[in-house]
Amino acid sequence: MAKKESKAKETHPEEKTYKRPTWVKSGEEELCPDCFKVVGERSRYNLVCMLGKAKEGMTVGELTSQTKLRQPTVTHHLQILKSVDAVASTERGRERVYKLNRDAHCFEECKIPF
Ligand SMILES: [Zn+2]
Repeated sequence: MAKKESKAKETHPEEKTYKRPTWVKSGEEELCPDCFKVVGERSRYNLVCMLGKAKEGMTVGELTSQTKLRQPTVTHHLQILKSVDAVASTERGRERVYKLNRDAHCFEECKIPF
């Protein structure tokens, strides 16, 4: 009944890293799982860059028209970004405005350029 397998894992805490995608032009060679989730798909990274430049945030409609993606695709990406706290959304009238959440993430550490 002895459970000893957990001990070996504790001595070697492996934090998985991911290779920086080619469309991210600078930053660390190896990204943490969260950052990779954010930039690991090119169109998602494009969305993040747009939000990074939009100080007042952007609505799904604005993001959709600027990326030429379909709205369900944009919404899907935004949900993933929200799941790792990379974006925050606020209500503005009947619209939902998305902003990049730089502080809540290790973007700075992984040196991801936005
Ligand atoms: Zn990171």
